[in-house]
Amino acid sequence: MSFPKIRDITFNILKTCSISSPPVDLGPILKHFNATVVRSGHLEESALLRAKKGWTIKVNRKLRQERRSFRIAHEIGHIYWSMPDHHLSDPRLGGKLEKYCSKFASLLLCPHQWFVQDAQEADYDLFTLKKIYTNVSHEVLAFRLSYLTPIVVTIYDNGKLYRRFSSPGLGHPPQGEKPEREVYEAVDLYGDFRELKGEINWNGIEQKVRIRGYPVFSGNYRRVILLTKPVVSVTLDESEFEEDMPYPFPEY
Ligand SMILES: [Zn+2]
Repeated sequence: MSFPKIRDITFNILKTCSISSPPVDLGPILKHFNATVVRSGHLEESALLRAKKGWTIKVNRKLRQERRSFRIAHEIGHIYWSMPDHHLSDPRLGGKLEKYCSKFASLLLCPHQWFVQDAQEADYDLFTLKKIYTNVSHEVLAFRLSYLTPIVVTIYDNGKLYRRFSSPGLGHPPQGEKPEREVYEAVDLYGDFRELKGEINWNGIEQKVRIRGYPVFSGNYRRVILLTKPVVSVTLDESEFEEDMPYPFPEY
């Protein structure tokens, strides 16, 4: 069965709602889907309920702004696929729906068609992009960047490694090599942006890399995101990860 790409589904929704630039305002989209948002303290993150006319999306009032936008967009994905015309009678949809809705949310708030251009213009700089996509988390933006340019993304929370992943097909250099450690330690200590060019062992060879370190601090919470990019040009094979709908997509 041939599926429409989620990036085209979400882009059409934006067009229908006359949204033409980031940050994506969810207001007109909620209206389009007859949905209202209710903040609540009695659920983990979000829930979707049928209402008299349309839908109610409940979100935990304590979620930070980006997470709240992401969860609302995720629930809009559920509304979209609740319509029989949209799920194309795919018997396998049920088990994959959570992943599709998260991909839907990522692409609705950060449309591929805009991001691919904005990211290039911003030289794949996380802080520049965050200023444009204000309601998308640094983590989601870093994840999406890894699908546009060859990078390794390393995320530390309060001094502990939380996630490390790289662009599809890029391989996994060992974690914690000297230049990465230096950038991480400086960002964690001083709380400002750091950049370094160095060499790390990558697939058995010393590879020249550019490492950029971003502090994402909030109160006592210290998140540091490293983007490690090989200096030699590597072309990503887009077909590998922008297939039609079914492909693994992490939950945020
Ligand atoms: Zn869900």
